[in-house]
Amino acid sequence: HARSLGGNQLQFFAPEMNQRTAERAQMEAALRIALIEGQLQLQYQPVADLQQGAICALEALVRWQHPVMGLIPAGRFIPLAEAAGLTTALGYWSLRRAVEDMLAWRAAGLAPVRVAINISPKQFLDPALPQVVADVLAQSGIAPSQLSLEITEAALMQDPNASDTTLAQLKALGIGLTLDDFGTGYSSLNHLKRFPLDLVKIDCGLTGNIVTGTDDAALVKTIISMAHHLGIEVAAEGVETEAQCDFLRRNMCDQIQGYFLAKPCDRDEVTAMLTARHALPSHLLRIQQQPR
Ligand code: C2E
Ligand code: MG
Ligand code: MG
Ligand code: MG
Repeated sequence: HARSLGGNQLQFFAPEMNQRTAERAQMEAALRIALIEGQLQLQYQPVADLQQGAICALEALVRWQHPVMGLIPAGRFIPLAEAAGLTTALGYWSLRRAVEDMLAWRAAGLAPVRVAINISPKQFLDPALPQVVADVLAQSGIAPSQLSLEITEAALMQDPNASDTTLAQLKALGIGLTLDDFGTGYSSLNHLKRFPLDLVKIDCGLTGNIVTGTDDAALVKTIISMAHHLGIEVAAEGVETEAQCDFLRRNMCDQIQGYFLAKPCDRDEVTAMLTARHALPSHLLRIQQQPR
């Protein structure tokens, strides 16, 4: 029981946090309990197609509903979970939960929308990954084209030859393969050519500078044109302003995601959004009205 851990686990997140072993161990114990006791939940952030002005995908983002601290976003515990070797189990939990939610939306009569699942570097090394995905698709009857996996370059470059094999197996299932967080440390345009990707996501850090820094604007234009030459679509993450959205539309970016469109939403909010046009994010309606 979470309560039996006592209050010390809170120290881990205190401002004066340091990553001492004891605190890390407490955090791991708390996360293991979170997985077992159902303290994890998924939110979904809509992704819009800039050409159609419509929601074209949802990115599943895990949250930890902590009994004391409330809702903790992935960015605050995934790196620690990865270091503790917990992200493989967590990642399969996210996959299964997302598919359950997709089945609920289908049962409610909603048109199918593609859901993107994040795969951590350690989970990507799991040799069982392609088979687990195949089993989940077979058991649920979800069309493979409705699912995509988001993988970072750091994950792909751990063992590039093994990545070729795993990606080929995943690709053969018919699911989408996305390169996540492009434009951060490892980025290389060669990776777009080498791996069988159908979407590349430009990282928030780069998107944030496109209307303020000319170098980053040029870089984003180059990424978009190079990706398109290779038959890969481009999504920009972390789009927060209309100016960023306009820049991306002018430069033929295919998709946007970010607070400008919508924050990550609970399953029921997504249901409402997919059900009623008037529940769509207001900015999306403006995108729909603007000629390209
Ligand atoms: P990511 O895949 O790059 O996900 C995008 C992150 O950007 C999310 O943070 C999202 O809430 C945040 N974001 C969305 N719009 C905006 C915006 O307009 N501005 C800014 N500044 N940020 C925005 P979150 O939810 O904290 O997730 C962080 C990372 O944790 C994700 O980065 C992903 O790598 C990882 N993650 C999330 N869920 C899972 C999961 O189920 N499994 C695994 N392995 N990793 C996950
Ligand atoms: Mg992602
Ligand atoms: Mg990303
Ligand atoms: Mg990111």
